[in-house]
Amino acid sequence: MNYTADNIVAIASSSGYAGVGVVRVSGANLSQIIKGISGRDNLKPRYAHYSDLFAADGSVLDSGLLLYFVAPNSFTGEEVLEIQGHGSPIVLNMIVKRCVELGCRLAEAGEFSKRAYLNGKLDLVQAESIADLIHAESEASAKGAIKSLKGDFSKHINQINEELINLRMFVEATLDFPEEDIEFIADAKIRDKLTIVRNSIHKLFQGTKQGVLLNNGANIVIVGQPNVGKSSLLNALANEDVAIVTEIAGTTRDIVSQKIIIDGIPFNIIDTAGIRDTDDVVEKIGIERAYNALENADLCIILVDNQTGISDREIDIIKRLPNGMSKLYIHNKIDLTGIDAHIKEQDNETHVYLSAQQKLGLDNLRQKLLSMIGWNHNESDVFLARTRHLDAMKITVEHIDYAFNNWDSLEIIAEELRYAHNSLATITGEFTADDLLGEIFSRFCIGK
Ligand code: GDP
Repeated sequence: MNYTADNIVAIASSSGYAGVGVVRVSGANLSQIIKGISGRDNLKPRYAHYSDLFAADGSVLDSGLLLYFVAPNSFTGEEVLEIQGHGSPIVLNMIVKRCVELGCRLAEAGEFSKRAYLNGKLDLVQAESIADLIHAESEASAKGAIKSLKGDFSKHINQINEELINLRMFVEATLDFPEEDIEFIADAKIRDKLTIVRNSIHKLFQGTKQGVLLNNGANIVIVGQPNVGKSSLLNALANEDVAIVTEIAGTTRDIVSQKIIIDGIPFNIIDTAGIRDTDDVVEKIGIERAYNALENADLCIILVDNQTGISDREIDIIKRLPNGMSKLYIHNKIDLTGIDAHIKEQDNETHVYLSAQQKLGLDNLRQKLLSMIGWNHNESDVFLARTRHLDAMKITVEHIDYAFNNWDSLEIIAEELRYAHNSLATITGEFTADDLLGEIFSRFCIGK
């Protein structure tokens, strides 16, 4: 252990009222705490012990179950005591306070998981996936998080890491023994090996993108004039009435952000203020926010009333969209124009014809949304990933590609492979700076 394992305590169950709540303690030696809270000298590891829990003056705070784990066979790799009391915040806080009296310190956010990582019980990807599992927004993302927690993602990373290490050793050996006659053969071998590594990394990069989509979802902005049916469309997609539907123009004055789940992917849909020229101060603020939201969007939906079609106003908005922003045109109210629900691809533009009110063509829209943000249904075993992983993968890919495209110098190849390796290793935490660790774990909740 490369840190002082003082004893830490926190409530591990969710805040609020429940039948049972859990207080978790971890540290190098818990005998004093066990004795103080239960009056017992020792607890048989991995057995449930029913016991009264005592205050300093000997009065009973609560009664519940004690579970004791001996190092290193615990979540953190240290001694761990789990106290299952009654699930009242008051009671659980009294138990925590008692543990503090007995020498514990309150745990920081993510500190249990951080200790598990520092003690080699989990790598960084696995530790992060605990937080992701807890915050998963759909069954699919929960399943993805479990896969990452079980080590699926790490396994892929480690495999490529091994390939990279082998390749680096080979390149450096060739550099160290530059015999003219073997150089040619060595070059060919390096090229082969590099091609294999490069393919693996590109494949994993695609998988990581899917994993990040499943975790973060996509930001969608809807622009359209008042009354074209923005609120009705959001309601139809979300199947619940969040935005208020009215017939008065310009009622959606502020940004309404709504989360809907399609095929397990969270979509953060931002319904913008009806963009139009106005003297109304409040509406002006809404319009400004609409433009800000556009900057961070993955996709922009332009919603029009099929009765009027695309007007100069939409054309004006489209001109002002950030460069390269994907656009999806939705023609609403086809029930009033007698058109069937369908999708039309024209001049690299996608047009979906539907009726939000009559719920016609919504599945077409859902499928189109998924494909436009890059979700690949066929990817059966998706693990959950984070933007941090994707960023590191991207750097790795860049260095590998650079090495691949620069055959002039083995020195450059060696250097690029070293960068690629270091960057990949930050994902599982093999080489990760302390400040990054601090940042990662501080985003966890207390008690995790
Ligand atoms: P927003 O201002 O863009 O949010 O538009 P709303 O969702 O409030 O809709 C404006 C009006 O159009 C309401 O009366 C809706 O019932 C109506 N509307 C929305 N979608 C449709 C549709 O597909 N067909 C028909 N006939 N009316 C619709």
